[in-house]
Amino acid sequence: MSCLFSCKKEESESTSHTKVVDSQIAYLNSKGFKKENIEFKNGKFILDNDILINQDEVAARIKSEGTSDGPQTEHWRHRYIVSRTYQYDVRVYIDPAVPADWQTATQGAVTNWSTLGSGLGMSLVSTLFQAHTRVFAGYESGANWVARAYLPTSNGRPGVSIEINTYYNYLTPSEKLFAITHELGHTVGFNHTDQNVGFFITSGTPWIPDPPQVDPYSVMNSFILPWNGFTTGDVQATRILFPF
Ligand SMILES: [Zn+2]
Repeated sequence: MSCLFSCKKEESESTSHTKVVDSQIAYLNSKGFKKENIEFKNGKFILDNDILINQDEVAARIKSEGTSDGPQTEHWRHRYIVSRTYQYDVRVYIDPAVPADWQTATQGAVTNWSTLGSGLGMSLVSTLFQAHTRVFAGYESGANWVARAYLPTSNGRPGVSIEINTYYNYLTPSEKLFAITHELGHTVGFNHTDQNVGFFITSGTPWIPDPPQVDPYSVMNSFILPWNGFTTGDVQATRILFPF
């Protein structure tokens, strides 16, 4: 930090900034994310290595949950999944710079969710303008994320992007398919099955069923497997959250 100007002012701003971040971390922690798995970087939080949420969005969630606007909307205030406006056709755009085999994986992942047998549908679109979610290629050598995705916004819009770490280009096509299917799960609101509170970011509310204790082949586990289809738990959870 430069001290050419007022260092004191910067320090005091930085202190209040830290307090805000601390309170937001406490909020995310109260939603089941372990503190050691919450990282704050460039205005966004990274949860469990691959789930992204903007600081503004966390603030919006905190604000929304702090206000009481009646039972009708209570469902939506506490479960941050894509709303019915979007769930039938989450439109995905693949940046042209995404390597071909990751593009294939993305196409397959869109098909996976669309054919699961729920009210959740996805499609690929050819322009960014039409899209809800943009898939793009990044690179971070040796990083512990293969791909990472934004959660939906608190007003029900799908997560804005999925970034693929091309450091992991060596994964098999089947693992890539698993990885992108997983990330698309985050963009519509799924959390990790095997961590914290379970399948969903807001698990524990009366509307969210308890996930199976262990679902070792769930696509929403935090580790990548060869793609072998959705588990019964994946299918049930998706049908409950996204009815026809
Ligand atoms: Zn994940």
